[in-house]
Amino acid sequence: MTGIGTTCVQAGYTPGNGEPRQVPIVQSTTFRYETGEQMGWLFDLETSGYFYTRLANPTSDAVAAKIAALEGGTAAMLTASGQAASFFSIFNLAGQGDHIVASSTLYGGTFNLFSVTMAQMGIEFTFVPPNCTDDDLDAAFRPTTKAVFGETIANPALVVLDIERFAAAAHRHGVPLIVDNTFPTPIHCRPFEWGADIVIHSTTKYMDGHGAAVGGCIVDSGHFDWMAHAATFPGLTTPDESYHGVTYAERFGSAGAFITKATAHLMRDFGAVQSPQNAFLLNLGLETLHLRMRRHADNGQAVAEHLRDHPAISWVTYPGLPGDPSYNLARKYLPDGSCGVVSFGVRGGRAAGQAFMGNLKLAAIETHVADARTCCLHPASTTHRQMTDAELAAAGVSPDLVRLSCGIEDAADLIADLDQALARLE
Ligand SMILES: *Cc1c(COP(=O)(O)O)cnc(C)c1O
Repeated sequence: MTGIGTTCVQAGYTPGNGEPRQVPIVQSTTFRYETGEQMGWLFDLETSGYFYTRLANPTSDAVAAKIAALEGGTAAMLTASGQAASFFSIFNLAGQGDHIVASSTLYGGTFNLFSVTMAQMGIEFTFVPPNCTDDDLDAAFRPTTKAVFGETIANPALVVLDIERFAAAAHRHGVPLIVDNTFPTPIHCRPFEWGADIVIHSTTKYMDGHGAAVGGCIVDSGHFDWMAHAATFPGLTTPDESYHGVTYAERFGSAGAFITKATAHLMRDFGAVQSPQNAFLLNLGLETLHLRMRRHADNGQAVAEHLRDHPAISWVTYPGLPGDPSYNLARKYLPDGSCGVVSFGVRGGRAAGQAFMGNLKLAAIETHVADARTCCLHPASTTHRQMTDAELAAAGVSPDLVRLSCGIEDAADLIADLDQALARLE
């Protein structure tokens, strides 16, 4: 078992003698075969191989294999974006008339996807506060519930999910736990070690890390026994007539069924594929993920501690701050640090927060987080602007919340930038 840093650098691709040292970008939509019969076997999933990049591509497969190794999973697929990964992770299990239990502290785009778009498709969601009691959690389940969904560290509320507790509840009701692990990345938390069954990522964030390529990923732990819950998951446990009558859970077992169905069925039909170019850029980011995450978390911690003591700041949320509501969960699930994102309120509320952001020089105002360069955003007027006040409160987003994403610059420079921006408010 190699260390996580070695996995970041080396997993997923091992060149043969005289082959390229770097993962080659296989910039080809299609692949050539000698006989039509050979290609037929590929379509029937009888043999593995490439035939069309919407379904599989060697560059993307190498990078997906690296992310599977980092999370400790059995299989993974890349998607065009984090949104596509969230959608596929649910739609692979649930359809019209089905139900999902989700934590209420979610990324704004995920909340919209679930509460508006997937609701239009006939999938109902019940949102529960992540700190609800076990009884409240149990009460959220219905006979039609197909999965539980949460974020390890919620964006931007920075609430840490009690993964073991949510996994236990999901398993009591015979369904898997899906965790969006975008913010800690597998460097700081591997949800499968705590009982989660499926992990998704917006690779746009720390995994890419340089603001270069939008992307997503889904990873399967291989732990969930679909056949033991065959009646709940007919899409995995009965023949897929749209795919040559294959029964995914029988043919590919617990280790491969979920990702094979997501590829052969959902990617075939929706086509939200990550380009080989973007997969290559993502892989460059992954090679330094272990180095960058440490620095992001160190900078986040230093900035959070500084702001906590600053007279112009009314409140700070950061899981690594003693006294933070998530501090104890962070010590359990994120012992090596959390992430570079710090949320806080500037005294004077929404207007002061916006003026403060305009005063920053190093930190840029961007709809982005988890980049090597420090950036900031006011979620209530941007990413979360579709939400009602009640939904904002449930998502842990107050109207004055400023989300600062600490990059990998020098902490002293970030702190000096914040101080000059706050000083100019008076
Ligand atoms: C950004 C983000 C997403 C959506 O990912 P995209 O790559 O922007 O589609 C999902 N979850 C979390 C936690 C995010 O931060």
